[in-house]
Amino acid sequence: MKWDGHTHSPFCRHGSTAPLEQYAMAAIAHGCVRLSVTEHAPLPPHWVDDAALCAMDVGELDAYIACVQRVREQYAGVLDVCVGIELDYLSGNVGFMENIVHRIDGALHDVIVSVHFVPGRNGTMRCIDYTPEYVRTHVLPAYGTMDRLVEAYYDEVEQAIASVSMVSGLPSRVRLGHVEVIDKFRAVLPPYDRAYCDERLLRLVPMLAHYGVGIDLNTAGLRKPHCQRVYATQSFVDACRKADVPIVFGSDAHDPSEVAYGWDVAMLMMQ
Ligand SMILES: [Zn+2]
Ligand SMILES: [Zn+2]
Repeated sequence: MKWDGHTHSPFCRHGSTAPLEQYAMAAIAHGCVRLSVTEHAPLPPHWVDDAALCAMDVGELDAYIACVQRVREQYAGVLDVCVGIELDYLSGNVGFMENIVHRIDGALHDVIVSVHFVPGRNGTMRCIDYTPEYVRTHVLPAYGTMDRLVEAYYDEVEQAIASVSMVSGLPSRVRLGHVEVIDKFRAVLPPYDRAYCDERLLRLVPMLAHYGVGIDLNTAGLRKPHCQRVYATQSFVDACRKADVPIVFGSDAHDPSEVAYGWDVAMLMMQ
């Protein structure tokens, strides 16, 4: 089934302002039968300095859900538009994640749990996929080396997978977002030990199976000039398939033109 399981909306603070109908029309044009709209969920106040760039406010959540539901009704029978969110794993604040899920109260079809933040200095949270300059200036100094940052990132990812058991009210379709987003700026950041990263990826597979969490086979990296690859290795995808971990394609479209982007590349990895 051609399904884009990770897309954004006009409620995104760093994406296109195009109406959601344009994402739906793009999905239909690409032959998709399902489109999951998974906007960034609100963040707790003061979580990061630039929260306004990251996600909608809590006060916008109801309007966002209503918008997806309206488009869902509009395209019923043509395209299965699903209500979703991309929920940040909030280290030490799982209660906030649960609050968001409860506020949406049963309307959710898809939840993508993503790690976009790692602890920085003095207890601040720092975004790892904003810009290479930001990572170099605000994230790397707290770790010293890229290897240590990668290690901290995978520690957060493991906690994110386990957090699913602490959040009540999640739908059955829960996926781990873009597992290798730490690779987004690989061409311009210091290199790191690839073998270690591959090993950490494989270690996630039994955890995913245990907690009933799928993966978002995310093609956004293909469009990023400093990455140019899918956020997953072939060995990781193969191991997930072997362990019956659900794998759902995700373009991570932040503009209607990006819906279904990289579908063929992702499908080659699924052969
Ligand atoms: Zn985004
Ligand atoms: Zn994301």
